[in-house]
Amino acid sequence: MGLPPLVPPGPELSVAERSRYARHVLLPEVGAVGQRRIRAARVLVVGAGGLGSPALLYLAAAGVGTLGVVDDDVVDRTNLQRQVVHGDADVGRPKTASAAEAVQALNPEVVVVRHDVRLDEGTALGIVADYDVVLDGADNFPTRYLVGDACARLGIPHVWGSVYRFDGQVSVWFAGNGPCYACVFPQMPAPDSVPSCSTGGVVGAVCASVGSVMVTEALKLVTGIGEPLVGRLLVHDALRQRWDAVPVRADPRCPVCGPAADPLRPLGRVPVRRSTNGGGVGSGPDSASSVPEVSVAELAGRLRDRAAGTDEFVLLDVREPGEREVVTIPGDVPVPLAAVRAGAHEPLPDGIPVLVYCRTGARSAEAAAVLRARGIAASNVAGGVLAWVRDVDPGLPAY
Ligand SMILES: [Zn+2]
Repeated sequence: MGLPPLVPPGPELSVAERSRYARHVLLPEVGAVGQRRIRAARVLVVGAGGLGSPALLYLAAAGVGTLGVVDDDVVDRTNLQRQVVHGDADVGRPKTASAAEAVQALNPEVVVVRHDVRLDEGTALGIVADYDVVLDGADNFPTRYLVGDACARLGIPHVWGSVYRFDGQVSVWFAGNGPCYACVFPQMPAPDSVPSCSTGGVVGAVCASVGSVMVTEALKLVTGIGEPLVGRLLVHDALRQRWDAVPVRADPRCPVCGPAADPLRPLGRVPVRRSTNGGGVGSGPDSASSVPEVSVAELAGRLRDRAAGTDEFVLLDVREPGEREVVTIPGDVPVPLAAVRAGAHEPLPDGIPVLVYCRTGARSAEAAAVLRARGIAASNVAGGVLAWVRDVDPGLPAY
């Protein structure tokens, strides 16, 4: 099913523009009128990261007149493997600054609007309302639900993508024409219950595959050509090099876009899914928040004492094997979180305390709670291996 163009055409193209965008103008579906729609379009890109980077470059090259960029983060060295709008010299700079420079270098005619903020209940509606279409490359669930809700309330299409390892998903959520994000994903996963690219890894070029589909969809919506990816969820598997389209439907009981949705409810609030693995955060009397903690400085001292024979404990790493390839704390024992949950690991020595660590301290808090429920004196290493690198051994790599 086609949809009418989102954006009316602006003034005639100049001679220079006819030349610059000739490969668009040549397309019968686009033509000069389509290019005038693209130039008049206002597109918001949420996140100048793995998906936002290729999206920004292709939107700029295509001649989108106004590009908004939302990101409150600074460029980190680990971003450079896939976030191609940022360069080596940009490490430590705001992502919106290097993204804006990359866009302007490619196409000085594009007006870039920097939004150096984290979208929240207070800012999301005001920012999104200023655009014709939103490309959502957010790396976290609260932002996706906020953007989805804001788009649904404003009747703006929400071009969404996500990537993990070799996999990608992409769709266009468009309340009134098809499902919104919450129709298909009605519950927000509990924090840290779903692995992310920062712990599981991702192929940079898979971000480009998904990001470029998002741009094609945005341009189709702006110009009103083809069949938009509304009501279909594309699922990409780069290892087998497959793209599958899964039909998805609007949910008439959807709390975000259904007929009974409360227009005054807080933005982006959907039920949070509890962990189904047992021992999840907040799932029992000995929840992760009540687990005793040790700091990385204390851990360093205790490791010295253990080496001297005056302390005894087990240091457990509950991260995934790939994360151990990047960095480890010396003298640890690897048991991934799933094995701790399932009790599928070598028995821990009787009566000896266990200190548990992960990347940031969230997964290890859950693991420690699970072990404590089994009568083991487990504590959580606050801040995880990232705190260890920051405070104890800055020569080690962070990720
Ligand atoms: Zn919905």
